[in-house]
Amino acid sequence: MGLQLVRVPGSATNMSNWDAYDEFGNSADLDGKRRTLANNVTTCISKGVDSGRFSNTSAVDAASECGWAPNPDGLDSAIEWQLFTGESGLPVSKMRAENYLPDPTYGDFGADDFFFKNQDPLGYSTVIHAVADGALDGGAKALDKGRLVLGAEVDRIELECDYVTVRSKDGRSWHSLHVISTLPLGVLQRRPEIFTPPMLTGQREALGRISMSNYTKIHAQWDEVWWNASVYKWVQANDGFNGGTLPSVRNLAHASVLPSSRTLLFDLGDPQASEWEQLDDDAAKAKLVAELQRVHPGKAIPLPSAFHMTRHSIDPLSYGAYSDWGDSTAEDHLRAGMPLSAPTPPASGQFPPRACPPRVWLSGEALCPRYNGFVHGGLISGRRDATRVLAALGVNGSFAANDGCDMTLGRDQMKRGRAVLRWRASFAR
Ligand SMILES: Cc1cc2nc3c(=O)[nH]c(=O)nc-3n(C[C@H](O)[C@H](O)[C@H](O)COP(=O)(O)OP(=O)(O)OC[C@H]3O[C@@H](n4cnc5c(N)ncnc54)[C@H](O)[C@@H]3O)c2cc1C
Repeated sequence: MGLQLVRVPGSATNMSNWDAYDEFGNSADLDGKRRTLANNVTTCISKGVDSGRFSNTSAVDAASECGWAPNPDGLDSAIEWQLFTGESGLPVSKMRAENYLPDPTYGDFGADDFFFKNQDPLGYSTVIHAVADGALDGGAKALDKGRLVLGAEVDRIELECDYVTVRSKDGRSWHSLHVISTLPLGVLQRRPEIFTPPMLTGQREALGRISMSNYTKIHAQWDEVWWNASVYKWVQANDGFNGGTLPSVRNLAHASVLPSSRTLLFDLGDPQASEWEQLDDDAAKAKLVAELQRVHPGKAIPLPSAFHMTRHSIDPLSYGAYSDWGDSTAEDHLRAGMPLSAPTPPASGQFPPRACPPRVWLSGEALCPRYNGFVHGGLISGRRDATRVLAALGVNGSFAANDGCDMTLGRDQMKRGRAVLRWRASFAR
């Protein structure tokens, strides 16, 4: 696929390759004890969930039982933020231990993350083109033949017993026997009126209990690197609860990433993500420099020369970044993902009355409970639902027995992903 990847050993939760700074910009946790403890806490929570010790336990309580007693300083607050929020995007107060660890993604695919750094104009779309090349006649060129329609905002999905009509905001419409919807969870939650007839209340409520996380990314570029470019990531103490304002910093100018980029990436879950994205770019730039200056009093930090901030939770095409189990249950996921059918026609003349078959298949990362929140959740759920549609059309005969997104599949065999981290896992340079 031609991807250029930087290996991040042990995922974003493993802080063993990072630096740590206190509220005053001084190196902190020099012996690594606090971050080692954080790693051990993830192992302990993971084991506790497996043994049933932490069923129905909040992540905060589980961490506490595992020995996490944060010091009342900014550093432990930032470490705690990174441990829980750094990947899920959710504040720790909204997380349940069993929905947090062990994570099937890291159990099934390995403990590491990979940071994608291709700089060609396609960017991350490289992946989409590669997948489409294999799946469509003519690959991405199928666009030209009209098989793919982009830029059409769907306003209505109307179910009849025998077909579905999809209407776009600009007045166009399409009819089809089946529809696979990959509308993001945030859109399903905030715009239920898209479906006619409406989804059943129980299904809507189940969708509502799954969390749509927010995750704001700030990329800021300076004319000159003013930070220590030899460190890939650092955890930064600053004032306030939940990790303060800017708990986590990723140095894209690191030798292993994009050495000439002169860019820092600040990745922010909640509560920070939703606070920052309310600011316009000028206000956010000024706040960024003020915050950085406060924790690096010895430096003279100018305004960045280039700046980009995402605003996922206020984007009407997503209303959030990606889903997280939060405090939802397996039952919620089962209900939320039920395919939609039109109601049984009142006077079909048949006995028993002919029930309308499923016509709209709810797909996308949020409806792949095993891998939700990840790109592979989107891909695998799409394959699952394509298989289901083919089966409904009689092409394959029956539903695939193994849908790939099932949370219970092989859970016992899951390797413990990030639960087996070693301190100072070797970092790819
Ligand atoms: C900041 C951030 C960081 C992430 N980091 C990672 C990571 O490190 N690793 C990882 O694996 N995953 C990551 N993800 C998650 C990953 O991007 C998603 O899981 C994946 O994109 C989900 O694919 P999807 O097709 O289900 O949904 P999406 O990619 O969300 O696609 C849904 C599409 O529906 C469109 N849409 C919405 N409403 C309408 C409408 N009314 N009409 C027509 N179209 C509509 C949207 O524009 C969008 O294109 C991250 C996501 C974000 C936002």
